[in-house]
Amino acid sequence: MAKKHCPNCGGALNVHADDAIITCSYCGTSFTPDGSKMKEHYALAVNYTQSDALDTLKAYLVKVPGVADDLAEKINLKDLSMTFYPYWTVTVQGDVTYKGIDRKATFRGQSGGRYSSINWEWVAESGHQDQTRQIRLYAGPKTRSEIVNYPIATRSRRYFNFEEAKQYTANVLFSKVSAETAKQQATAATRNMIYSRIKRETERVDDSRENFNVTDQAYIHVPIYHIQFSVGGRKTYEAALDASNGRVIYTDIPTTTGFKARTISMSIIWFAFTIAGAIITYMAYSGISLIGLNPEFLFYAGIGLTIIPLILALLTLYFGFRGTAAERAQ
Ligand SMILES: [Zn+2]
Repeated sequence: MAKKHCPNCGGALNVHADDAIITCSYCGTSFTPDGSKMKEHYALAVNYTQSDALDTLKAYLVKVPGVADDLAEKINLKDLSMTFYPYWTVTVQGDVTYKGIDRKATFRGQSGGRYSSINWEWVAESGHQDQTRQIRLYAGPKTRSEIVNYPIATRSRRYFNFEEAKQYTANVLFSKVSAETAKQQATAATRNMIYSRIKRETERVDDSRENFNVTDQAYIHVPIYHIQFSVGGRKTYEAALDASNGRVIYTDIPTTTGFKARTISMSIIWFAFTIAGAIITYMAYSGISLIGLNPEFLFYAGIGLTIIPLILALLTLYFGFRGTAAERAQ
């Protein structure tokens, strides 16, 4: 950690060596380590108050299977804080004109609906791919994958409003990714997408002309609530919620003990079927016929009876005990 002074107000800030964009905690100005101010700094608006956020989380949780019906009344709020997470959005327009070769089959000697030979030959291929992509990159310090991969809504962006961050005593995280690096990463990602399309049509690209342009780039902070709660007991559960659109990014699921018991008995039943299937398979394999059924039929039926309930048992356990849920992106 080193001290840096804000180029706007002179306030002293603690920064790490890998911080690429620093936001002053006194005046809200963003600047690069060399001291140049960043004017194009956006944020999503805070549209959900703390109590809205808690209500939204409760409404979400009561719909999750295995949660107590009176969960909403039992929730005890332990902590609720807001963090602004930094992301880059980069729109890249790319076009590639290429020449290459592809394998094509030619059929010869047709007689009676059949070909006597199929020849593969190399033929020249050429084409053009044109695509515009908006790439989103998480830029902050290491955090949970749900936040890193969160598909932020970029349409409602507006300039970063430091007063709002202060009002919610929010922590504004610094970007570890510079504007230039974000641009390079987004261009590389777009280039990979275009070339993987071309490779589906052309076996080998011999020559290509490419042109990539960044048509829009924005540094955006997304306000996210972190909620810690308990449900009667001592255990603490965690959730994160988008303060801009109220979406639940992830949450621990406080399932009831009754639900857990049902999950266990359901999976025991499925495992019992699996064992029965394995016994039938083994008997059929050893040539023992059951109630006069064909051993070959029994063998395949036994395999099916082993695998299908096993999958069902594992799915039951997975959904009964996964513990965390995240809302699916539209
Ligand atoms: Zn400042």
